[in-house]
Amino acid sequence: MRTRARHIGVLGGSERCHAGTVTGEALDPGAGGASGRFAPSPSGPLHLGNLRTALLAWLFARSAGAGFELRVEDLDPDRSRPEHERGQIADLAAIGLSWDGPPWRQSERGDAYRDALARLRERELVYPCWCTRAELRAAASAPHGALPAAYPGTCRGLSAGERRARERSGRPPAWRLDAGGRVGVALDRLHGPLEAAVDDFVVWRGCADGEGVAAYNLAVVVDDAAQGIEEVVRGDDLLTSAPRQALLAELLGLAVPRYAHVPLVLGPDGTRLAKRHAAVTLAEQLHAGASVELVVGWLAASCGLVPGPAELTAGEVLEAFDPARIVREPTVLDGALVAV
Ligand SMILES: [Zn+2]
Repeated sequence: MRTRARHIGVLGGSERCHAGTVTGEALDPGAGGASGRFAPSPSGPLHLGNLRTALLAWLFARSAGAGFELRVEDLDPDRSRPEHERGQIADLAAIGLSWDGPPWRQSERGDAYRDALARLRERELVYPCWCTRAELRAAASAPHGALPAAYPGTCRGLSAGERRARERSGRPPAWRLDAGGRVGVALDRLHGPLEAAVDDFVVWRGCADGEGVAAYNLAVVVDDAAQGIEEVVRGDDLLTSAPRQALLAELLGLAVPRYAHVPLVLGPDGTRLAKRHAAVTLAEQLHAGASVELVVGWLAASCGLVPGPAELTAGEVLEAFDPARIVREPTVLDGALVAV
């Protein structure tokens, strides 16, 4: 049987567009417990959308009797704060989630990322890119139909001389995957098979005062494999990252996890939930008079797991967990969960 793949857009420019089919059987990881994870960036308090995604990730893993890992994605030193990490972990524990072992921190994983970059360089699967943000913006707005996110490939075909000239500039390059038009293929529990042509995305960012830092996609792929994550549950704003990460995992010889991209929670104005919206965090809801159980009940009800608002513990939601009930549409949060 061949299953129609959900084509989620071209990541590398229209010339590489490739819609197609993949075999469902080939992608089926089989039944059984698949270790899961939640991996927040400690750049602020978790909002109810983050907490709902964390709850769902925990439910998927624990309902299968599988492990559940926590990972702090703190590679951006300008935005990451230890107090946010502590606050996020406290909120996850407060809503009743448990995880196996201490949380991993990406800021402590540099050796693993450098090793992955070295393997990609050895196999000439990456190339240095000296494009500035301004150059990338100019290329993206040029009238040749490239998507804003698509890298035009400027540095892919540099001659040895051109490369030396850029090296002499002293500006450290980023490293991009030489995707070569390859298609990334992944299986999503809620969206079915996903596939897309992958662009030459950045795997390593140059940095003027050091060796640089792993880009998000590289760090995630290396960590998911190292933590033994078999099922990645996360917000569906990252749906288009799945083919990129699946391809990168394959090229690194790592297992490709299964995915479940779950819908987001939006603010009353229909934009992604943010601090400027009212009562978005657990603390704000508790301050408005809600109990933790009412918040957990709302998290479960808002994504379709239980019929209506109720006071529930995470354990009670786990007992009744049926992934088939998860809604596919975003939820709009309209202020406090209790009338003040
Ligand atoms: Zn470039």
